[in-house]
Amino acid sequence: MPAEAEAVLSLQNVSKDFVVRHRVLHAVDRVSFDVPKGKTVGLVGESGSGKSTVGRLGLSLLPTTAGNVYFKGQDLTKMTPKTIRPLRRAMQIIFQDPLASLSQRMTVGAAVFDALSLHNIGTPKERWKRVDALMERVGLSASMTQAYPFELSGGQLQRVGIARALSVGPELVVCDEPVSALDVSIQIQIIQLLRELQAEMNLSYIFISHNLAVVEYLSDEVVVLYLGQVVEQAPADQLFTRPSHPYTRVLIDSILRVPKADEPQQKLEALRGEMPSPFSPPSGCTFHGRCPIAQDICSTEVPQLRLLEAGHSVKCHFAE
Ligand code: SF4
Repeated sequence: MPAEAEAVLSLQNVSKDFVVRHRVLHAVDRVSFDVPKGKTVGLVGESGSGKSTVGRLGLSLLPTTAGNVYFKGQDLTKMTPKTIRPLRRAMQIIFQDPLASLSQRMTVGAAVFDALSLHNIGTPKERWKRVDALMERVGLSASMTQAYPFELSGGQLQRVGIARALSVGPELVVCDEPVSALDVSIQIQIIQLLRELQAEMNLSYIFISHNLAVVEYLSDEVVVLYLGQVVEQAPADQLFTRPSHPYTRVLIDSILRVPKADEPQQKLEALRGEMPSPFSPPSGCTFHGRCPIAQDICSTEVPQLRLLEAGHSVKCHFAE
């Protein structure tokens, strides 16, 4: 496995189906990408695109329906919960809502201490020392260890979430919309903190967000998902300068570009309509009902994910 041996994490043709009221929902469909050591892969798409599910599959928090997930060369899909347990310390997650992931009856310091205890790291004295150091590193005073979650702001809680995830010395961190619920000024501080910590600890991130501006700032590689499928995948600089899939172009237009007074209106493309139900995805290209350049062939023939240039793949009949 030469390619995946280089990567901290490698997803290969990973699919996930859910059965909901006797109907099968294809939440993730043959998704493949690598997360190299010390790098960030951004996962973008609207809500319902499957990006959070992909993040959980990457951490083996959900079983796959098909495909393989290699963590440092070990196929997690072939392992049992017991054999995966020693690897858990190296694979952590930062949630969008840290309040929901913290016990309201435990101080935030105790929550970080608890993570260290869970993985049997250090003596109790060493754990508290580490808790204090981490709280300070993420921008919280050591005295805040005694605060309860409800006493902290959203930004402070997310710093606790980061301290807890990083306390156990992970190599891979899935950041699942970690700044979406925060004010813009706080978002910038948290993103900067994540970037600094990545450099200091040589962390690999999967960064999940619907905010392409944030993804562009943090990511080395970007994977664009639509209805559980990869529609474009490229190094971040290529994707943002030369987006090839109409969906990616519309996402970038709608999020990053502020129309100037003299700019012709037709240059901006809005995303039309709602994402179709994943229970009954459209025929052909699943994006055809919303695509500004769809042709007849798009509703009948499924486009293949094909390589446009080194590292840049796109799933569209007309991308070039
Ligand atoms: Fe649009 Fe057709 Fe390309 Fe799909 S295959 S993105 S519908 S042009």
